[in-house]
Amino acid sequence: LVVIDHVDKHFGDLHVLNDINTVVNRGEVVVVIGPSGSGKSTLCRAINRLETIDSGTITIDGQKLPEEGAGLAKLRADVGMVFQSFNLFAHKTVLENVTLAPIKVKRMSRKDADAKAMELLERVGVANQAQKMPAQLSGGQQQRVAIARSLAMNPKLILMDEPTSALDPEMINEVLDVMVGLAEQGMTMIVVTHEMGFARKAADRVLFMADGRIVEEATPADFFDHPKTDRAKDFLSKIL
Ligand code: ATP
Ligand code: MG
Repeated sequence: LVVIDHVDKHFGDLHVLNDINTVVNRGEVVVVIGPSGSGKSTLCRAINRLETIDSGTITIDGQKLPEEGAGLAKLRADVGMVFQSFNLFAHKTVLENVTLAPIKVKRMSRKDADAKAMELLERVGVANQAQKMPAQLSGGQQQRVAIARSLAMNPKLILMDEPTSALDPEMINEVLDVMVGLAEQGMTMIVVTHEMGFARKAADRVLFMADGRIVEEATPADFFDHPKTDRAKDFLSKIL
């Protein structure tokens, strides 16, 4: 579904993505981990074309990422994104947050969009919060709304960049449970997270990044129990 081929990107002198190559198949869950500054967020943003790349190609479902224009809107509809900081529209209700893009971009009727949104809010366990404003919800509830919002566009792929790292500990599990559920239902996901429990339970593969490179690529069991490089061993010794 996603083919990343010889992707390079610099920020000035910094080689933030250094010859990145990987393939994510339909239904696969890939967890990206690595030290701060290793390029994880930049890679996610490049896949959603929130960031340009210098060279190489990223192909999603057979389509090379567009440079600009109408193709970009289509890409963003196909690729859901969930950020660390929820990014809900503060002046819209929970329900409106979920229906906005389907109505505007997909020209769905309000009635259909509302029905679909309620179904998704039910699925992530916050249907009873539909008429509230985001600020009235806990962080975990807001992040679950953000996940429902990304699902509302029927994406082919969901990118999540540290979706639980802004949450209080007691709210992390409620969001991880939703993520595990999505994975079990066959959603293709690329998730930047240091939640080893999620990686072990849901990931097909772990990509370990350091200094802009993919240093190791392995199953969670292999990676966590038998890291090959000193770089990964050192990293794991700090987070486990
Ligand atoms: P973290 O775990 O802290 O989120 P990360 O692996 O997601 O780190 P990135 O956010 O991808 O790392 O950043 C990689 C490097 O690129 C960092 O050194 C960062 O300072 C730099 N960087 C990111 N965005 C920009 C930008 N817009 N302009 C210049 N440098 C940037
Ligand atoms: Mg990051």
